[in-house]
Amino acid sequence: MDEEAAEVIREIFRRVVAGESGNDIARTLQARGLLTPNNYKNTKDGKPPSEFTIWSGRTIHHLIDNPTYVGLYIAQKHTTPSYKNHKRIIRSEEEWVKIENHHPAIVDLETFEAAKRLRDARRRITKRGDKGELSGLLFCKDCGSKLALAHQQYDYYICNKYRARSLYETDHCTRHAIRREAIAQIALVKIQETIALALGNKERFIAEVNKSANKDTEKAIKHKAAELAKAERRIADSTALSAAFTKTT
Ligand SMILES: [Zn+2]
Repeated sequence: MDEEAAEVIREIFRRVVAGESGNDIARTLQARGLLTPNNYKNTKDGKPPSEFTIWSGRTIHHLIDNPTYVGLYIAQKHTTPSYKNHKRIIRSEEEWVKIENHHPAIVDLETFEAAKRLRDARRRITKRGDKGELSGLLFCKDCGSKLALAHQQYDYYICNKYRARSLYETDHCTRHAIRREAIAQIALVKIQETIALALGNKERFIAEVNKSANKDTEKAIKHKAAELAKAERRIADSTALSAAFTKTT
């Protein structure tokens, strides 16, 4: 492997260890127009790079799992049932032939293992299915999308439109990150205020609830009216168009 490619591999490990997610790293590399490992190999073999192969979180996770980068060579990982049957079966790990320092390492073992640990920790969080206690209740002020829980060194809620943005989209929102504990504190204070009001001044509490419910209804009516006007315009347009079409034929 040449030094330029090795530097990309080192950068990926550095970023994983720094707590960046696979998807974020993939976006950065893609934006810089760097070749994926597959396309790098294609280019070396004299083939054109495939435009369909792009960096993804999977590429990153696959890459940090590869012991080649610490100088380890693994042989006899697969076997076949017999010399006639060529079906590949994976051997148990004890049977693999591992040769350490087989070739110069690109990253040191410590970094390699730290990257794996961080990746696994991140996976455990995702698997736990923790969506955040305020999910579905928080909205982005700019684009109106729901805020989704994201995990980095800390837990954050971020704009879902930003989170789901693709590399090719241009109108995505910005991150709008808010720390999970911070918003939980704010929500807690609000809840306590509401309870205090409900207990202390029942009439005012009922009035407040009605007022905010009315505000929501008003908003919903306005929204529906705008939709109706739009639909009516569309009908008028298509009627005019079909009338014009009938006249000319
Ligand atoms: Zn947004």
